[in-house]
Amino acid sequence: MNLDSLTRELRASTKGELLLNEPMCRHTSFRIGGPADVFFTPENEDDFKTALAVCRQHQAPVTVIGGGTNLLVSDLGIEGVVISLAGRLNAVSVQGTSITVGAGALLGQVSSTAAMHSLSGLEFAAGIPGTIAGAVAMNSAAFGRRMSDVVTSVRACTLDGHDVIFSADDCRFGEKSSIFLDGQHVVLAVVLGLKIGDPCEIREARERFVRERSAKQPLNQPSAGCAFRNPKGEGAGRYIDQAGCKGLRVGDAEVSRLHANFIVNLGCATAADVMQLMDQVVELVASKVGVRLEPEIRFIGRRPAS
Ligand SMILES: Cc1cc2nc3c(=O)[nH]c(=O)nc-3n(C[C@H](O)[C@H](O)[C@H](O)COP(=O)(O)OP(=O)(O)OC[C@H]3O[C@@H](n4cnc5c(N)ncnc54)[C@H](O)[C@@H]3O)c2cc1C
Repeated sequence: MNLDSLTRELRASTKGELLLNEPMCRHTSFRIGGPADVFFTPENEDDFKTALAVCRQHQAPVTVIGGGTNLLVSDLGIEGVVISLAGRLNAVSVQGTSITVGAGALLGQVSSTAAMHSLSGLEFAAGIPGTIAGAVAMNSAAFGRRMSDVVTSVRACTLDGHDVIFSADDCRFGEKSSIFLDGQHVVLAVVLGLKIGDPCEIREARERFVRERSAKQPLNQPSAGCAFRNPKGEGAGRYIDQAGCKGLRVGDAEVSRLHANFIVNLGCATAADVMQLMDQVVELVASKVGVRLEPEIRFIGRRPAS
């Protein structure tokens, strides 16, 4: 990959915003992360596909992100081109009980659009930050409901720009996972199947979920949401708490004192701090509770030499 000719061609053939050596801490809810060689925000879908084609010609690695709310980015940054779809490709249209949503639309706004149309099924998403595409890729979940309950189909494209339609089964949804985490398919649009509901009940449920979040989650501190996947039948937070990890700290990364499954950045935490802290939590929970936790947060970027 020749970075100079790559950026020259990206500038010449696309209309979106292109930033060089862009600190990823500006694009993640954790406020952590070294520089992306190139950070590109496409203007629209054609622009996105043109950028993909240019990256392919230049053999540049591509990382597609949404709102960066589930990411831990390496202190060494990210090689190649990071493409952010947050706030782009964000059209939302309602047809009966179905909503078609562009990748970059914010999940919370889609939940609120559904509520405005008295459509039930997406109340759980009120207050989850990030984009609809990130939520589908992660099979985001809360209060016993998950994206896979409402996804009817997904239009995605391969890294060589070909559109593929995925049925809900094709998405291979799992516990905080889907086929889209393979890095080979980019979610472009999602069709959600909802049900007509009672407007008051929908509003009350959304308000209750938002209230519960503010009471139980450290929303005033930078984080990437839950650090670990929930093992079957139990919340990871309970195990972390049982192992006495609340308040455990490495550098400026701390296991939240409010919600044990959140790691918060107290100011200047690095990705290395967070990873070291997560390793300590895994070992303590394994030795004291006998359960081996798996990370939910997605680590991306250059791997530090071990
Ligand atoms: C305060 C807080 C509360 C949270 N609460 C919850 C919660 O209750 N439940 C929950 O499940 N999560 C929660 N999260 C985590 C996070 O908000 C969700 O997982 C969110 O849906 C991720 O969306 P995003 O756009 O930020 O994705 P990103 O963090 O940008 O990306 C996440 C993953 O999806 C991939 N991805 C993103 N866009 C695409 C695309 N277009 N095509 C293919 N892959 C893509 C990325 O490559 C990455 O692997 C919380 C986070 C925070 C900070």
